[in-house]
Amino acid sequence: MSEFNLTAVARANILELTPYRCARDDYSDGILLDANENSIGPAVATHGHLQLNRYPDPLHYNIKELFGNLRGVRKEQIFFGVGSDEAIDILFRIFCNPRQDNAIITPPTYGMYKVCAKVNDVSVKTSPLTPTFEVNMESLISTIDPNTKLIFLCSPGNPTAKVIPNSVVEEILKVYTTGIVVVDEAYIDFSGTESACSLIDKYPNVVVLQTLSKAFGLAGIRLGMAMANENIIQLMNNIKAPYNINKLSAEVAINALSNLALYKSNITTILSERKFLLDAFASLSYIKKIHHTDANFILFVIPKAQVIYKTMADRGIVCRYRGTELHCDDCLRVTVGTREENEKFLSLLQTVVTELQVV
Ligand code: PMP
Repeated sequence: MSEFNLTAVARANILELTPYRCARDDYSDGILLDANENSIGPAVATHGHLQLNRYPDPLHYNIKELFGNLRGVRKEQIFFGVGSDEAIDILFRIFCNPRQDNAIITPPTYGMYKVCAKVNDVSVKTSPLTPTFEVNMESLISTIDPNTKLIFLCSPGNPTAKVIPNSVVEEILKVYTTGIVVVDEAYIDFSGTESACSLIDKYPNVVVLQTLSKAFGLAGIRLGMAMANENIIQLMNNIKAPYNINKLSAEVAINALSNLALYKSNITTILSERKFLLDAFASLSYIKKIHHTDANFILFVIPKAQVIYKTMADRGIVCRYRGTELHCDDCLRVTVGTREENEKFLSLLQTVVTELQVV
């Protein structure tokens, strides 16, 4: 049994607050003159079926049920945010007292953890991954102090592309009961490994972040989720903006989650294109190292990476220079594209490498 005590870990002001009550909490049918909406109608002739003059559902349990079925969690264990970026910010606001508490990140990692920490005036401690992008357990555990409220693990990592196994996450959860372990699984569907969602019923202090932005190909609708123990999700729902997920996004999400065939076949296509790129990279002597990938991108080492990046971008093909990140000297990160995009990427890379005399 975990010793985690949510009321001892969350900020007092958050535990004390009386959540805002939405207009539709009590009555949602009838003549609705309660919410200062526009009763005449929306100033647009499209999307009539959505009644866009009315506020959306504050909690979207119908969509959560569909998503929960896919991940093996209950709808009460799911928070929806405007991208998982919103969930990251809300976790800081629930758990970290400004200028007092801290969060641990494991560089190289996703940049928003640090940005959200700064926005919330929370300090960040680092426990670097090993050069092969594994958690350094000894370092991580010794970095925890009594004010550490959040530990961010990115799995698969961005930019590492490497999964952190659930066994490692569990090792941390077994000893860390004074804060939250956040497992950011934005890229989990490309990994073929089990989600940390399976740990939620066992550990009351694990939060799993996922998103529709990657495997579902819906970055444009901004829908991300946090999955955790019901009590944590309740706090997240208490402090979010009342109607954060809009009706247009909700409708698209329902369509995507009601028929998973396209989601599955798109993942298959991306994995086969990833293999196409990996095979091509393997034959290029100027690529000095190809990092293992569990994601929809590849991190690789190439001499003169920064100038290659800039030259290619100026000619219309944009990847990401990651050479300033820890253990990522001369690294480029390229997202798997369509076959046509991948071929064009490889072709321009060859041209630029030849021009720059990279060997
Ligand atoms: N986590 C990681 C590791 C990411 O790479 C990203 C986006 N690049 C996000 C979270 C944010 O995703 P969303 O679109 O759901 O806000």
